[in-house]
Amino acid sequence: LAPALRRNEIAQFALRSPEIITALREAIATTEPRRATYLDHVPVDRWMELMITPVPVPTSFGGADKCMLMTFHDQTPLRRVEEMRADFVANASHELRTPLAALSGFIDTLQGQAKDDPKARERFLGIMHNQATRMARLIDDLLSLSRVELSAHVRPDTLVDLLPIIRQVADGLEPLARERQVEVEIHLPDSPVMIAGDREELLRLFENLIENALKYGASGGRVIVSLTSGAATDGTQEIRIMVRDFGPGIAPEHLPRLTERFYRVDVGDSRSQGGTGLGLSLVKHILNRHRGRLLIESVPRQGATFSACFPQAKAPAQI
Ligand code: ADP
Repeated sequence: LAPALRRNEIAQFALRSPEIITALREAIATTEPRRATYLDHVPVDRWMELMITPVPVPTSFGGADKCMLMTFHDQTPLRRVEEMRADFVANASHELRTPLAALSGFIDTLQGQAKDDPKARERFLGIMHNQATRMARLIDDLLSLSRVELSAHVRPDTLVDLLPIIRQVADGLEPLARERQVEVEIHLPDSPVMIAGDREELLRLFENLIENALKYGASGGRVIVSLTSGAATDGTQEIRIMVRDFGPGIAPEHLPRLTERFYRVDVGDSRSQGGTGLGLSLVKHILNRHRGRLLIESVPRQGATFSACFPQAKAPAQI
Protein backbone atom coordinates (compact mmCIF):
# COMPACT_ATOMS: atom_id res chain seq x y z
CA LEU A 1 0.00 0.00 0.00
CA ALA A 2 2.82 2.38 0.80
CA PRO A 3 6.03 0.95 -0.62
CA ALA A 4 8.00 4.03 0.47
CA LEU A 5 7.18 3.48 4.16
CA ARG A 6 10.34 2.71 6.15
CA ARG A 7 10.97 1.90 9.79
CA ASN A 8 12.02 4.97 11.77
CA GLU A 9 11.33 7.35 8.92
CA ILE A 10 8.69 10.04 8.84
CA ALA A 11 5.41 8.54 7.65
CA GLN A 12 4.17 11.73 5.97
CA PHE A 13 6.73 11.37 3.19
CA ALA A 14 5.72 7.83 2.40
CA LEU A 15 1.94 8.14 2.54
CA ARG A 16 0.83 9.86 -0.60
CA SER A 17 -2.67 10.82 0.34
CA PRO A 18 -3.35 14.11 2.16
CA GLU A 19 -6.50 12.49 3.66
CA ILE A 20 -4.35 9.94 5.49
CA ILE A 21 -1.97 12.55 6.81
CA THR A 22 -4.74 14.85 8.03
CA ALA A 23 -6.51 11.94 9.78
CA LEU A 24 -3.22 10.82 11.32
CA ARG A 25 -2.42 14.31 12.60
CA GLU A 26 -5.87 14.62 14.12
CA ALA A 27 -5.67 11.21 15.77
CA ILE A 28 -2.30 12.09 17.29
CA ALA A 29 -3.51 15.49 18.48
CA THR A 30 -6.79 14.28 19.98
CA THR A 31 -5.78 10.67 20.84
CA GLU A 32 -9.14 9.68 19.41
CA PRO A 33 -9.84 7.25 16.56
CA ARG A 34 -10.15 8.71 13.08
CA ARG A 35 -11.52 7.36 9.83
CA ALA A 36 -10.49 8.40 6.32
CA THR A 37 -11.49 7.26 2.87
CA TYR A 38 -9.40 7.95 -0.16
CA LEU A 39 -8.85 6.97 -3.75
CA ASP A 40 -5.45 5.69 -4.79
CA HIS A 41 -4.62 5.96 -8.49
CA VAL A 42 -1.28 4.15 -8.59
CA PRO A 43 -0.82 1.49 -9.95
CA VAL A 44 -4.60 1.15 -10.48
CA ASP A 45 -7.66 2.93 -9.08
CA ARG A 46 -8.31 1.63 -5.58
CA TRP A 47 -10.78 2.87 -2.98
CA MET A 48 -9.41 2.52 0.52
CA GLU A 49 -10.88 3.04 3.92
CA LEU A 50 -8.50 3.72 6.76
CA MET A 51 -9.15 3.39 10.48
CA ILE A 52 -6.65 5.01 12.82
CA THR A 53 -6.84 3.89 16.43
CA PRO A 54 -4.52 5.29 19.10
CA VAL A 55 -2.94 2.43 21.02
CA PRO A 56 -0.98 3.32 24.13
CA VAL A 57 2.04 1.00 24.24
CA PRO A 58 3.61 0.75 27.74
CA THR A 59 7.29 1.66 27.83
CA SER A 60 9.90 0.05 30.07
CA PHE A 61 10.24 3.36 31.98
CA GLY A 62 6.56 3.46 32.92
CA GLY A 63 4.06 5.62 31.02
CA ALA A 64 3.09 4.84 27.45
CA ASP A 65 4.24 5.58 23.92
CA LYS A 66 1.70 7.17 21.59
CA CYS A 67 1.26 4.58 18.88
CA MET A 68 -1.30 4.57 16.11
CA LEU A 69 -2.79 1.41 14.68
CA MET A 70 -3.67 2.01 11.03
CA THR A 71 -6.04 -0.51 9.43
CA PHE A 72 -6.59 -0.29 5.68
CA HIS A 73 -9.68 -1.83 4.10
CA ASP A 74 -9.73 -2.23 0.34
CA GLN A 75 -13.23 -1.13 -0.69
CA THR A 76 -12.61 -1.45 -4.44
CA PRO A 77 -14.72 -4.58 -5.11
CA LEU A 78 -17.67 -3.11 -3.20
CA ARG A 79 -17.38 0.20 -5.05
CA ARG A 80 -17.23 -1.57 -8.40
CA VAL A 81 -20.43 -3.49 -7.64
CA GLU A 82 -22.06 -0.27 -6.52
CA GLU A 83 -20.99 1.49 -9.74
CA MET A 84 -22.26 -1.40 -11.86
CA ARG A 85 -25.59 -1.33 -10.06
CA ALA A 86 -25.95 2.42 -10.60
CA ASP A 87 -24.99 2.05 -14.30
CA PHE A 88 -27.48 -0.75 -14.69
CA VAL A 89 -30.35 1.24 -13.17
CA ALA A 90 -29.45 4.24 -15.37
CA ASN A 91 -29.31 2.08 -18.51
CA ALA A 92 -32.50 0.19 -17.74
CA SER A 93 -34.40 3.42 -17.03
CA HIS A 94 -33.11 4.96 -20.23
CA GLU A 95 -34.11 1.91 -22.29
CA LEU A 96 -37.60 1.94 -20.78
CA ARG A 97 -38.03 5.67 -21.10
CA THR A 98 -37.39 5.70 -24.87
CA PRO A 99 -40.45 3.64 -25.88
CA LEU A 100 -42.49 5.29 -23.14
CA ALA A 101 -41.70 8.74 -24.54
CA ALA A 102 -42.77 7.56 -28.00
CA LEU A 103 -46.03 6.20 -26.57
CA SER A 104 -46.84 9.41 -24.70
CA GLY A 105 -46.02 11.46 -27.80
CA PHE A 106 -48.41 9.46 -29.96
CA ILE A 107 -51.17 9.57 -27.36
CA ASP A 108 -50.92 13.38 -27.41
CA THR A 109 -51.03 13.39 -31.21
CA LEU A 110 -54.03 11.08 -31.26
CA GLN A 111 -55.86 13.31 -28.80
CA GLY A 112 -54.92 16.40 -30.79
CA GLN A 113 -54.31 16.93 -34.49
CA ALA A 114 -54.73 13.27 -35.57
CA LYS A 115 -58.06 12.89 -33.77
CA ASP A 116 -60.19 12.85 -36.89
CA ASP A 117 -57.69 11.33 -39.31
CA PRO A 118 -58.38 7.59 -39.50
CA LYS A 119 -55.33 6.91 -41.69
CA ALA A 120 -52.88 8.61 -39.33
CA ARG A 121 -54.63 6.96 -36.37
CA GLU A 122 -54.10 3.52 -37.88
CA ARG A 123 -50.41 4.20 -38.52
CA PHE A 124 -49.77 5.66 -35.08
CA LEU A 125 -51.54 2.78 -33.35
CA GLY A 126 -49.24 0.40 -35.23
CA ILE A 127 -46.16 2.25 -33.98
CA MET A 128 -47.57 2.38 -30.46
CA HIS A 129 -48.13 -1.36 -30.55
CA ASN A 130 -44.49 -1.92 -31.54
CA GLN A 131 -43.24 0.33 -28.75
CA ALA A 132 -45.44 -1.38 -26.17
CA THR A 133 -44.14 -4.77 -27.35
CA ARG A 134 -40.60 -3.50 -27.00
CA MET A 135 -41.22 -2.40 -23.42
CA ALA A 136 -42.80 -5.75 -22.59
CA ARG A 137 -39.79 -7.60 -24.05
CA LEU A 138 -37.41 -5.45 -22.08
CA ILE A 139 -39.26 -6.12 -18.84
CA ASP A 140 -39.40 -9.86 -19.64
CA ASP A 141 -35.64 -9.95 -20.23
CA LEU A 142 -34.91 -7.94 -17.08
CA LEU A 143 -37.05 -10.30 -15.00
CA SER A 144 -35.46 -13.41 -16.53
CA LEU A 145 -32.02 -12.00 -15.88
CA SER A 146 -32.75 -11.27 -12.24
CA ARG A 147 -34.36 -14.70 -11.77
CA VAL A 148 -31.29 -16.47 -13.18
CA GLU A 149 -29.00 -14.30 -11.07
CA LEU A 150 -30.95 -15.08 -7.91
CA SER A 151 -30.43 -18.80 -8.42
CA ALA A 152 -26.89 -18.47 -9.82
CA HIS A 153 -25.36 -20.39 -6.91
CA VAL A 154 -27.74 -23.35 -7.24
CA ARG A 155 -26.66 -25.63 -10.01
CA PRO A 156 -29.62 -27.32 -11.76
CA ASP A 157 -29.77 -31.01 -10.83
CA THR A 158 -32.45 -32.44 -13.12
CA LEU A 159 -31.21 -34.44 -16.08
CA VAL A 160 -32.60 -33.15 -19.36
CA ASP A 161 -32.12 -34.23 -22.95
CA LEU A 162 -30.78 -31.33 -25.04
CA LEU A 163 -32.03 -32.62 -28.39
CA PRO A 164 -35.81 -31.99 -28.01
CA ILE A 165 -35.02 -28.58 -26.51
CA ILE A 166 -32.91 -27.53 -29.51
CA ARG A 167 -35.51 -28.93 -31.91
CA GLN A 168 -38.34 -27.10 -30.17
CA VAL A 169 -36.45 -23.79 -30.42
CA ALA A 170 -35.59 -24.34 -34.08
CA ASP A 171 -39.23 -25.20 -34.88
CA GLY A 172 -40.43 -22.09 -33.07
CA LEU A 173 -38.04 -19.91 -35.07
CA GLU A 174 -38.99 -21.38 -38.43
CA PRO A 175 -41.31 -18.47 -39.33
CA LEU A 176 -38.49 -15.97 -38.62
CA ALA A 177 -36.06 -18.03 -40.72
CA ARG A 178 -38.55 -18.09 -43.57
CA GLU A 179 -39.15 -14.37 -43.28
CA ARG A 180 -35.41 -13.67 -43.35
CA GLN A 181 -34.86 -16.25 -46.09
CA VAL A 182 -32.34 -18.18 -44.06
CA GLU A 183 -31.79 -21.93 -44.45
CA VAL A 184 -31.36 -23.53 -41.01
CA GLU A 185 -29.36 -26.78 -40.92
CA ILE A 186 -29.53 -28.84 -37.76
CA HIS A 187 -26.94 -31.55 -37.12
CA LEU A 188 -27.79 -33.52 -33.99
CA PRO A 189 -26.80 -37.03 -32.92
CA ASP A 190 -29.44 -39.80 -32.86
CA SER A 191 -29.27 -40.78 -29.22
CA PRO A 192 -30.26 -38.45 -26.32
CA VAL A 193 -27.67 -36.04 -24.95
CA MET A 194 -28.25 -35.58 -21.24
CA ILE A 195 -27.00 -32.73 -19.09
CA ALA A 196 -27.95 -31.45 -15.65
CA GLY A 197 -30.08 -28.49 -16.65
CA ASP A 198 -33.09 -26.24 -16.32
CA ARG A 199 -35.34 -26.80 -19.33
CA GLU A 200 -36.91 -23.33 -19.40
CA GLU A 201 -33.52 -21.60 -19.14
CA LEU A 202 -32.04 -23.80 -21.86
CA LEU A 203 -34.95 -22.94 -24.16
CA ARG A 204 -34.22 -19.24 -23.64
CA LEU A 205 -30.51 -19.75 -24.18
CA PHE A 206 -30.85 -21.47 -27.56
CA GLU A 207 -33.66 -19.15 -28.58
CA ASN A 208 -31.36 -16.16 -28.05
CA LEU A 209 -28.42 -17.66 -29.92
CA ILE A 210 -30.40 -18.94 -32.91
CA GLU A 211 -32.57 -15.82 -33.09
CA ASN A 212 -29.44 -13.62 -33.10
CA ALA A 213 -27.94 -15.69 -35.92
CA LEU A 214 -31.18 -15.28 -37.92
CA LYS A 215 -31.42 -11.56 -37.19
CA TYR A 216 -27.84 -10.35 -37.44
CA GLY A 217 -26.48 -13.01 -39.78
CA ALA A 218 -29.43 -13.14 -42.20
CA SER A 219 -27.37 -11.81 -45.11
CA GLY A 220 -25.37 -15.08 -45.06
CA GLY A 221 -28.53 -17.00 -45.93
CA ARG A 222 -27.54 -20.01 -43.85
CA VAL A 223 -27.36 -20.97 -40.17
CA ILE A 224 -25.90 -24.23 -38.89
CA VAL A 225 -26.76 -25.61 -35.46
CA SER A 226 -24.64 -28.59 -34.44
CA LEU A 227 -23.85 -30.58 -31.33
CA THR A 228 -20.54 -32.27 -30.60
CA SER A 229 -18.90 -33.68 -27.51
CA GLY A 230 -15.23 -33.63 -26.73
CA ALA A 231 -12.57 -32.83 -24.20
CA ALA A 232 -12.39 -29.30 -22.78
CA THR A 233 -9.00 -27.64 -22.23
CA ASP A 234 -8.90 -29.01 -18.67
CA GLY A 235 -9.46 -32.57 -19.91
CA THR A 236 -13.07 -32.93 -18.71
CA GLN A 237 -15.74 -34.02 -21.19
CA GLU A 238 -18.08 -31.32 -22.43
CA ILE A 239 -21.04 -30.98 -24.77
CA ARG A 240 -20.75 -28.17 -27.25
CA ILE A 241 -23.67 -26.70 -29.18
CA MET A 242 -22.52 -24.42 -31.98
CA VAL A 243 -24.69 -21.85 -33.72
CA ARG A 244 -22.92 -20.64 -36.80
CA ASP A 245 -23.97 -17.96 -39.24
CA PHE A 246 -22.39 -16.53 -42.36
CA GLY A 247 -23.40 -12.90 -41.91
CA PRO A 248 -21.24 -9.81 -41.38
CA GLY A 249 -19.62 -11.21 -38.21
CA ILE A 250 -18.37 -9.08 -35.33
CA ALA A 251 -15.19 -7.00 -35.16
CA PRO A 252 -12.73 -8.35 -32.54
CA GLU A 253 -12.88 -5.24 -30.32
CA HIS A 254 -16.56 -5.91 -29.58
CA LEU A 255 -16.22 -9.60 -28.70
CA PRO A 256 -15.22 -9.26 -25.02
CA ARG A 257 -18.07 -6.83 -24.32
CA LEU A 258 -20.97 -8.62 -26.06
CA THR A 259 -22.24 -10.27 -22.87
CA GLU A 260 -22.41 -6.99 -20.95
CA ARG A 261 -25.93 -5.85 -20.27
CA PHE A 262 -27.23 -3.44 -22.91
CA TYR A 263 -24.06 -3.69 -24.99
CA ARG A 264 -24.73 -3.71 -28.73
CA VAL A 265 -22.42 -3.38 -31.70
CA ASP A 266 -24.95 -1.12 -33.38
CA VAL A 267 -27.76 0.21 -31.19
CA GLY A 268 -29.93 1.27 -34.16
CA ASP A 269 -29.61 -2.13 -35.80
CA SER A 270 -30.43 -3.95 -32.56
CA ARG A 271 -33.50 -1.75 -31.91
CA SER A 272 -34.81 -2.16 -35.42
CA GLN A 273 -34.53 -5.94 -34.95
CA GLY A 274 -36.47 -5.71 -31.69
CA GLY A 275 -33.35 -6.36 -29.59
CA THR A 276 -32.96 -5.34 -25.96
CA GLY A 277 -29.19 -5.77 -25.59
CA LEU A 278 -29.83 -8.25 -22.78
CA GLY A 279 -29.92 -11.52 -24.76
CA LEU A 280 -26.26 -12.51 -24.57
CA SER A 281 -26.01 -11.37 -20.97
CA LEU A 282 -28.85 -13.75 -20.16
CA VAL A 283 -27.11 -16.51 -22.16
CA LYS A 284 -23.93 -16.02 -20.17
CA HIS A 285 -25.75 -16.10 -16.83
CA ILE A 286 -27.66 -19.24 -17.76
CA LEU A 287 -24.42 -20.93 -18.81
CA ASN A 288 -22.68 -19.85 -15.60
CA ARG A 289 -25.50 -21.37 -13.57
CA HIS A 290 -25.06 -24.60 -15.54
CA ARG A 291 -21.31 -24.41 -14.91
CA GLY A 292 -20.82 -24.07 -18.64
CA ARG A 293 -19.18 -21.41 -20.78
CA LEU A 294 -19.86 -19.33 -23.87
CA LEU A 295 -17.37 -19.12 -26.71
CA ILE A 296 -17.68 -16.46 -29.38
CA GLU A 297 -15.62 -16.67 -32.54
CA SER A 298 -15.97 -14.45 -35.55
CA VAL A 299 -14.19 -13.52 -38.71
CA PRO A 300 -15.60 -10.18 -39.91
CA ARG A 301 -17.50 -10.52 -43.19
CA GLN A 302 -17.49 -14.32 -42.87
CA GLY A 303 -19.86 -14.83 -39.98
CA ALA A 304 -19.96 -15.64 -36.29
CA THR A 305 -20.06 -18.82 -34.21
CA PHE A 306 -21.55 -18.84 -30.72
CA SER A 307 -20.86 -22.05 -28.78
CA ALA A 308 -22.59 -23.03 -25.56
CA CYS A 309 -20.46 -25.59 -23.72
CA PHE A 310 -21.83 -27.72 -20.86
CA PRO A 311 -20.08 -30.20 -18.62
CA GLN A 312 -21.20 -33.70 -19.55
CA ALA A 313 -23.58 -35.23 -17.01
CA LYS A 314 -22.07 -38.15 -15.14
CA ALA A 315 -23.48 -41.45 -16.36
CA PRO A 316 -26.03 -42.81 -13.86
CA ALA A 317 -24.56 -45.59 -11.73
CA GLN A 318 -24.98 -49.00 -13.35
CA ILE A 319 -27.20 -51.32 -11.35
P1 ADP B 1 -29.87 -7.79 -28.77
O1 ADP B 1 -31.11 -7.79 -27.98
O2 ADP B 1 -29.42 -6.43 -29.19
O3 ADP B 1 -29.87 -8.77 -29.88
P2 ADP B 1 -27.81 -9.45 -27.55
O4 ADP B 1 -27.24 -9.37 -26.17
O5 ADP B 1 -28.50 -10.72 -27.93
O6 ADP B 1 -28.76 -8.21 -27.68
O7 ADP B 1 -26.64 -9.17 -28.58
C1 ADP B 1 -25.80 -8.06 -28.39
C2 ADP B 1 -25.25 -7.57 -29.71
O8 ADP B 1 -24.36 -8.54 -30.24
C3 ADP B 1 -26.30 -7.36 -30.79
O9 ADP B 1 -26.91 -6.10 -30.66
C4 ADP B 1 -25.47 -7.47 -32.05
O10 ADP B 1 -24.85 -6.23 -32.30
C5 ADP B 1 -24.37 -8.48 -31.66
N1 ADP B 1 -24.63 -9.84 -32.19
C6 ADP B 1 -25.21 -10.86 -31.52
N2 ADP B 1 -25.26 -11.98 -32.27
C7 ADP B 1 -24.69 -11.66 -33.45
C8 ADP B 1 -24.41 -12.40 -34.68
N3 ADP B 1 -24.77 -13.67 -34.80
N4 ADP B 1 -23.79 -11.73 -35.68
C9 ADP B 1 -23.44 -10.42 -35.55
N5 ADP B 1 -23.66 -9.68 -34.42
C10 ADP B 1 -24.27 -10.28 -33.39
